[in-house]
Amino acid sequence: MLNIKKYQFWFCTGSQDLYGEECLSHVAEHSQKIVEALNHSGNLPFEVVWKPTLVTNELIRGTFNEANIDENCAGVITWMHTFSPAKSWIHGLQEFRKPLLHLHTQFNREIPYDSIDMDFMNENQAAHGDREYGHIFSRLGMERKVVVGFWEDEDVQREIAAWMRTAVGVVESRHVRVMRVADNMRNVAVTEGDKVEAQIKFGWEVDAYPVNEIAEAVSAVQKGDVDALVEEYYDQYEILLEGRDEKDFREHVAVQAAIEIGFERFLEEKNYHALVTHFGDLGALKQLPGLAVQRLMEKGYGFGAEGDWKTAAMVRIMKIMTQGMKDSKGTSFMEDYTYNLVPGKEGILQSHMLEVCPSIAQGAISIKEQPLSMGGREDPARLVFTSKTGPAVAVSLIDLGDRFRLIINKVECKNVEKPMPKLPVATAFWTPQPDLKTGAQAWILAGGAHHTAFSYDLTAEQMGDWAEAMGIEAVYIDKDTTIRQFKNELRWNSMAFGK
Ligand code: MN
Repeated sequence: MLNIKKYQFWFCTGSQDLYGEECLSHVAEHSQKIVEALNHSGNLPFEVVWKPTLVTNELIRGTFNEANIDENCAGVITWMHTFSPAKSWIHGLQEFRKPLLHLHTQFNREIPYDSIDMDFMNENQAAHGDREYGHIFSRLGMERKVVVGFWEDEDVQREIAAWMRTAVGVVESRHVRVMRVADNMRNVAVTEGDKVEAQIKFGWEVDAYPVNEIAEAVSAVQKGDVDALVEEYYDQYEILLEGRDEKDFREHVAVQAAIEIGFERFLEEKNYHALVTHFGDLGALKQLPGLAVQRLMEKGYGFGAEGDWKTAAMVRIMKIMTQGMKDSKGTSFMEDYTYNLVPGKEGILQSHMLEVCPSIAQGAISIKEQPLSMGGREDPARLVFTSKTGPAVAVSLIDLGDRFRLIINKVECKNVEKPMPKLPVATAFWTPQPDLKTGAQAWILAGGAHHTAFSYDLTAEQMGDWAEAMGIEAVYIDKDTTIRQFKNELRWNSMAFGK
């Protein structure tokens, strides 16, 4: 279900007809070589498509409008090989609606000291032309990503690759559809939000269904399909009976298998990419979807608990942004639960009642059954595991009433010191940057939620770029964060973004 389009990015080189045919033929040749090298580098997740050099207002305007209507084009990479008067770009840029990367590079790495003359300088003047071009974006107040460096360098290619993933997240955001099973949890503030504004800003369609309509889809699943999926679970996961009756255990697992199949059919049939549930409103469902939702997340669906559709949509987008990534470590819905405040070992234990995505698991995954302390249903089956270590990013999208804010925290995931044999849920443990005291203080000052969308595979920069493309406020909590500066940033942002 995570299969998204085979997106492409157009590579457009700017110039003008002042320099003569020979120069323009070099420009075309050089840009083709760069495109070829980028495509063969193995560093880019999507194909780059070369386009003829843009030399006139009409051609620029026409090309950007073609890019708008090409469904496979997720963005345009532009570079001024020579000088291209930026007034020529105004109409095209004003009409362009997709992500844009300004690649500030140069065909030659080194100044050819012995042979350089005026012809060479006129032909290779990105330092000049890219400044003229950059000016018009700033004048138009348009968002764009600027990447600087030599096109053959791996770090430059990796920056382009990271932006491509963000760009796909931006383009795909306008196709995200969230299915709400029941409403938000009563009295909870931070999981609420303006769904109309979310559709205007992010493109998300957020629809509610009565829980029993989904429960019907679950009860319609044939026993043969359920049994086959239970077999798959028993092959794939360790079974932790812990003294429970084997037959009874299997029957509880089968309830989750029916939920997985029923929910997935419902989501597919109605074309939804993310879902929310609420433990307090389960209708005819026998268990809170646990194992079932964990597996749906692993397949690429976004998820948020207690009706949290904002986090569900963010999880979906972040899963899209990481699609097909080599050595991916996983992306999940997550919740801040409890602290370790031992000096030098500070951190936040992350978990949820059940719903943590197994894509972030490290080592074996087991099935457990335990009572929920809330909801009053049958003991639900859930996947239990610990998570990978290393750097990651946790984000929270909140609605401040007059605007959205994305809070982006860099975190360091660690192993917990000791096993937690009595805890019947999947967990992660992390220390927020710059340290627990400052990180948690900044998070709380910014109004960040207890729910997050979490990923090992994305960077704070990518999430900030996504927010910029959406035209919303983003704040970073990282190694450079100080509380005094952060509070000022929030104040200043309220002037910049507030209505
Ligand atoms: Mn929760």
